[in-house]
Amino acid sequence: MECDKCGREAVMHAAYSGLHMCEDHFCESVEKRVRRRIREDNLLPDDATPEDPETWVVGLSGGKDSVVLATILHDTFARAPRVELVALSIHEGIEGYRDESLAACEELAAELGIRHEVVTYEEEFDVRMDEVVEEDPENMSACAYCGVFRRDLLSRYATRFDADKLLTGHNIDDEAETAMMNFLEGNITQIAKHFDASLGGFEGGCSERSRGESEAFVPRAKPLRDVPEKEVALYAHLRDLPAHITECPHAEEAYRGEIQELLYELEERHPGTRHSIMAGYEELAALAASEHRGGDGEFGECERCGGPTRTDICRKCDLLAALT
Ligand code: SF4
Repeated sequence: MECDKCGREAVMHAAYSGLHMCEDHFCESVEKRVRRRIREDNLLPDDATPEDPETWVVGLSGGKDSVVLATILHDTFARAPRVELVALSIHEGIEGYRDESLAACEELAAELGIRHEVVTYEEEFDVRMDEVVEEDPENMSACAYCGVFRRDLLSRYATRFDADKLLTGHNIDDEAETAMMNFLEGNITQIAKHFDASLGGFEGGCSERSRGESEAFVPRAKPLRDVPEKEVALYAHLRDLPAHITECPHAEEAYRGEIQELLYELEERHPGTRHSIMAGYEELAALAASEHRGGDGEFGECERCGGPTRTDICRKCDLLAALT
């Protein structure tokens, strides 16, 4: 098959757009989608300059998504550095898993010449995920604990590093799965949060965020969210990026796995399904956010850790208390 743009040998066919692309045009198209998302989400204010750059903290796990995101961001701002990148890796305490992916993070950060920080659950919370899974006092999946701890650290360290934005490498498959899960669970609160976290937050200098949230959190963004997972993997492979691709031994979100399978099948039979889910979901999230603004309480400070929360004690402190 030939590239539709230049006639060279195609390395991929995007069924949702009908395009065949060679290696160069494919890589260029991934980069363009990330840059377009940065523009459309107004991530970079006009007054950011090489003399006074923004600080963007990028969650770097060493997996393909975060490695691709950090690389494209670095390349985008390399010539006119209006953004200073800080890579932040989290060690969850998972034997034989995170050590190798941290090596990939270190290699990439050194290659790109960006600051790299590592924080661990053990140092921060005195827990390791391997032990949390054994104890499991709340009878939940490992990922339910791990997600709460990770979000807390990313958010807290982004604030500590005086970041203007906190970026993560979610791709369109991740986003469509989450959208479907929230929709099927009827979870309007989470749907509204999607707007606050990913969409409305950057318009008008964060004025569209839910009450209190703009002060409580560093604004978050997902510039890879227009790119399918398989394309992220192909990009990492073609550019020979040091991504670590192994399954976490505690990954057990069974419901997400079912939704993932369902979406694969739908996308096979009806190319473009993920894109249309996200287009509709983003409109729905905006509506849900405007409805919900009157209903939730203001963000206050957790009585134990001082982190932002709408209750007296934040979820992370609740879970840590259950583990001790
Ligand atoms: Fe944590 Fe689950 Fe990811 Fe493993 S798969 S690192 S337990 S969130």
